[in-house]
Amino acid sequence: MQEFLRNIPPIHELQNHKKVRQIQSDFNVNKDQLTSFLQQETQNVRKDILSGLWEPAKESEIEKEILSRVYKNVKDWITPNLKRVINATGTILHTNLGRARLSHEAMKRVVEVASHYSNLEYNIEQGKRGSRHDIVEDLIKELTGAEAAMVVNNNAAAVYIILRAFANDQNVIVSRGELVEIGGSFRVSSIMEESGAGLVEVGTTNKTHLYDYKNAIDDETAMLMKVHTSNFKILGFTESVDRRSLVKLTQETDKLYYEDLGSGAFYPFQDEGIGEEPVVRKILNEGADLVSFSGDKLLGGPQAGIIAGKKAYIEQLKQHQLARVLRVDKMTLAALEGTFKQYVKREENQIPVIRDLRKSLVEIQEQAQKFIEHVGELKHFKLRVTDAEAQVGGGTMPEVKIPSAGVAITEESVSAEKIEQKLRQHEPSVVTRYHNEQLFFDFRTLTEEEQSELVYIIKSIDQQL
Ligand SMILES: *Cc1c(COP(=O)(O)O)cnc(C)c1O
Repeated sequence: MQEFLRNIPPIHELQNHKKVRQIQSDFNVNKDQLTSFLQQETQNVRKDILSGLWEPAKESEIEKEILSRVYKNVKDWITPNLKRVINATGTILHTNLGRARLSHEAMKRVVEVASHYSNLEYNIEQGKRGSRHDIVEDLIKELTGAEAAMVVNNNAAAVYIILRAFANDQNVIVSRGELVEIGGSFRVSSIMEESGAGLVEVGTTNKTHLYDYKNAIDDETAMLMKVHTSNFKILGFTESVDRRSLVKLTQETDKLYYEDLGSGAFYPFQDEGIGEEPVVRKILNEGADLVSFSGDKLLGGPQAGIIAGKKAYIEQLKQHQLARVLRVDKMTLAALEGTFKQYVKREENQIPVIRDLRKSLVEIQEQAQKFIEHVGELKHFKLRVTDAEAQVGGGTMPEVKIPSAGVAITEESVSAEKIEQKLRQHEPSVVTRYHNEQLFFDFRTLTEEEQSELVYIIKSIDQQL
């Protein structure tokens, strides 16, 4: 072992190695950074030999090992950490994979606004200071019928500012059946505590009656809040109070009525038999004072929290100190405007979330069949068109199963885990799922471009195996 340690080449020798020079020119990495990687990996190799973690068979392997580790480091260092992924899971709003993808229109707006100056807070007509609140407010009003609207960082921020502004040091009444936790980090009860509002729980997990709310209302009550039970559904004997009754009750008692909608749809999915999510317009029409929802769930836009409702309340929120804390960037506003414009122009099918949700089963099956024909014979496994069920995801419509189809890997000569890993670690990464214990690509979430890419990826992985 001492023999081996003596044979670790000195840094200046490595610096002049042909391969190191190659790395330096290939990746355009500066000399100091490269030297630091060489020092680091020389140290690591020494440590690994000493601890027995790595044992070279012969001397010449040491240099090779150091150089290959440095190569990997440099490569990791220059490639971005936030990478594109091909989502073959069939889950359209995949929380781990960035939720909604943006439409081309929205992206065009982002690129234009981000790479130039803009009138973010400038009134071009009058030549004086403007407000970023004005950029998408009219569009939201037009699309939802709201008197007024504003945008904050995400829906969690929307819930927070509303509670803080209207219920700090007072109480908020919520049904026990609606005290949700979403994604492990958003809890209605916790956000309420942070906001300084007191939570008054009424009813039971499965049933809440109008008299439960009525009995709980007193002078300390600021608002009644209804929370969309986004990611779960209580089955069996359940009862909740309908919106109109709650609106009436809050009007009679002079309290605020607010709904956290979670997803908030502009597109009438319900009319097409997809879930039971009412459109935002309907909820406001039934008299809600305020609603809030995410920009990147069913709406299909960027991460944002949209607040819509009565003008007097929205004006108060815009004046609140937190509005500045929670405000959105120009890129978000550009993407939102691009997305909203597609709704206004009735081009909803160009919004990827809507397009993917509405894609017909026959179309998906045909694409999967064509894909298999394009791939042709493989050495290590066979592919078969298989029907499956996709999900909306993102804590939206948990009970809705969307008929879907894709390609399953059958009769593999290597383990499915190995193929899964190869796909996942490919660039771009391909994320799959298991269906009936077979590795499965759900084609509902794959664009035609991605399907073509996948033909090459599968073939090249088959070659490497
Ligand atoms: C998703 C969700 C939130 C959080 O929204 P973000 O935009 O992720 O911050 C809050 N409330 C409900 C009911 C939700 O479904």
